Amino acid sequence: MESTTEISNHNENPQIIYRCKKCRRIVASKDQIIPHEPGNGQKCFKWKKRTGDTNTTNECSSIFVEPMKWMQAVEDGNVEQKLQCIGCNARLGSFNWAGMQCNCGAWVNPAFQLHKSRVDECRV
Ligand SMILES: [Zn+2]
Ligand SMILES: [Zn+2]
Repeated sequence: MESTTEISNHNENPQIIYRCKKCRRIVASKDQIIPHEPGNGQKCFKWKKRTGDTNTTNECSSIFVEPMKWMQAVEDGNVEQKLQCIGCNARLGSFNWAGMQCNCGAWVNPAFQLHKSRVDECRV
């Protein structure tokens, strides 16, 4: 690795934030992510729900975060709803206080799920 000329190099832990892909609004930061142990992929799903090879471990296609102020449906007291960007109304994911299953097979409870395909991961 070459030595970098970046001024912010002293920061070994760059802050990572997630933005709505459509309107660039910040929807989460790394601190708000709730990590989960990856599950056993397709094996964890009922037969009908399986979509692929049971031996491949899926990389999580979503991130799970804390409930946040912009999540209007949460503020409204819903138990289970989709999560829409407060800036552009794009659907970013969904939540369920009773929990949801990540595509890796792990259960997250309660679950506030943002699809990685709907948000951009940026370093600040
Ligand atoms: Zn997962
Ligand atoms: Zn948006």
